[in-house]
Amino acid sequence: MTIFKERIMAYAKINLFLKVCGKRQDGYHLLSTLMQSVSICDRVVVECSDSALKDGLEPGISLTADAAYIPGDARNTAYIPGDARNTAYKAARAFLNVLGRQNVAVKIHIQKGIPIQAGMAGGSTDAAAVLGALARIFPGTVSTDELLSIAARIGADVPFCMAGGTQLCEGIGDILTSVPSLKGIPLLFIKPQYSISTPWAFSVFDNLPSAGKGRAEADAVLHRVLLSPNGMSPMQRVIEAAPFLYNDLEGAADREYPILSEIRAFLIGQGAVAARMSGSGSTVFGIFTDKKMRDTALDNAGAYLGAGFFIEAGETV
Ligand code: C5P
Repeated sequence: MTIFKERIMAYAKINLFLKVCGKRQDGYHLLSTLMQSVSICDRVVVECSDSALKDGLEPGISLTADAAYIPGDARNTAYIPGDARNTAYKAARAFLNVLGRQNVAVKIHIQKGIPIQAGMAGGSTDAAAVLGALARIFPGTVSTDELLSIAARIGADVPFCMAGGTQLCEGIGDILTSVPSLKGIPLLFIKPQYSISTPWAFSVFDNLPSAGKGRAEADAVLHRVLLSPNGMSPMQRVIEAAPFLYNDLEGAADREYPILSEIRAFLIGQGAVAARMSGSGSTVFGIFTDKKMRDTALDNAGAYLGAGFFIEAGETV
């Protein structure tokens, strides 16, 4: 038997700040954003045989998930017949194309913990998990450069998800610079019932004349306290940066979904030093200076917001 099995915790991300710097001709936006891995995660299992027929398996890719909202899945715990819309499937397909072997079977199972269309890279992190697992199962076959190029082709957030931690992401989000770690900061995540599509958020931003202007002072502080090694602890850096954190896509989302600014005000009222939307939304995260305050906010959030919201405590990882 030559079956390999990898279990991966595929972490979500938040954007501590997100600046839209311009737009490319292909419609993608140029960004300068500080992405941070957080403890909310999917659990991805990748099983793989490099001699499928001998192992009694059909060569190819199969993908199952425990959630009805995974693309291509109409029922609970249903089998997804290799749905090409799923980023994890695309990742496996792209890897096998480069690998160029015929008799390989890849079985992927995804247990969702990250809400979808939440601005937390739920799909991208599954793709990154699959790419990482296959690279470990077939060491030395696909170069790091090739792996990163596959990642960038699947989605703008996939290269970050492969690297993880704290990274300044530029270009369309795919040019990474590692930043001193901001691990261990308590967070509270709240996502309303509404999901936001990334292309929609960017297109609304494009039509707001004042969007993303006048950030010079904030940028100077954020660069000094978050991006450079300055002898401060992660918590000190976050406290100093907190009043200056921003997300250029927030204004666009607020117009359509006023609940987002209400959630941010609630989090600040609970003692968060900052509350921002992550990526293109619709998750809002609150940054807390201690876990007790965060946990009290978690209890109060349920009572304040009622049913239908994704409310979860976590931290930066
Ligand atoms: O790359 P990904 O599939 O995550 O992007 C989804 C969509 O979000 C893109 O098709 C594009 O409309 C928008 N996007 C963008 N600029 C980025 C990232 C995404 O305009 N940097």
